Amino acid sequence: MKKKAVVLLSGGLDSATVLAIALDQGYEPITLCFDYGQRHRVELERSRALSRKMGALEHKEIQIDLRQFGGSALTDDIAVPKGRSEGEMTQEIPVTYVPARNTVFLSLALAAAEAANAQDIFIGVNAIDYSGYPDCRPEYIQAFEQMANLATKAGVEGTSKFKIHTPLIEMTKAEIIKKGLELGVDYSLTHSCYHPDADGHPCGQCDSCLLRKKGFQEVGVEDPLVYQNQT
Ligand code: ZN
Repeated sequence: MKKKAVVLLSGGLDSATVLAIALDQGYEPITLCFDYGQRHRVELERSRALSRKMGALEHKEIQIDLRQFGGSALTDDIAVPKGRSEGEMTQEIPVTYVPARNTVFLSLALAAAEAANAQDIFIGVNAIDYSGYPDCRPEYIQAFEQMANLATKAGVEGTSKFKIHTPLIEMTKAEIIKKGLELGVDYSLTHSCYHPDADGHPCGQCDSCLLRKKGFQEVGVEDPLVYQNQT
């Protein structure tokens, strides 16, 4: 019997690759995406489409409105930075940081995993190409894993040892794309932009778009997404 795993699937390039890796490792994924009040709803659609197309066991969309707290350009009417160099991107924690987002998401993923008798949680955090977010660092993930095993019935009774899998944590964007292409990920279904237009076309200028474009350039493959200035 295959082992179940909970995979956090935002609909982005990284999480789609993580889902492909979990499938390739023989897991039956339960995909989780969060409707947290993000301004750009296109990612929820992409997450659903990717989960279906890639053959996840089940898809859950969790409603949790982080707009009640605010404090991020992804939930509030705060301008998303455009056209920044990589040096500028990593100088400080960017305004696109959502307060404690990965802790909120991983906590719910842990609840889903324990309820489903799954021991494995996959998350597409990355500490190389974009080190601005404190909740993407390996030491954070290790601490969360330790907490997960202290905080759950399954962990305490020793019936389950939770593992947080971060297969992308040491990979560059180009390495992630290469791996995903090898595993057959359809990147035309993914969404990376922090500031898409009403039709979901990416801006091409935010940090996330710039890192994505650079990744595809390095691999030497064309990004299947249609950017705003190309329409
Ligand atoms: Zn963008």
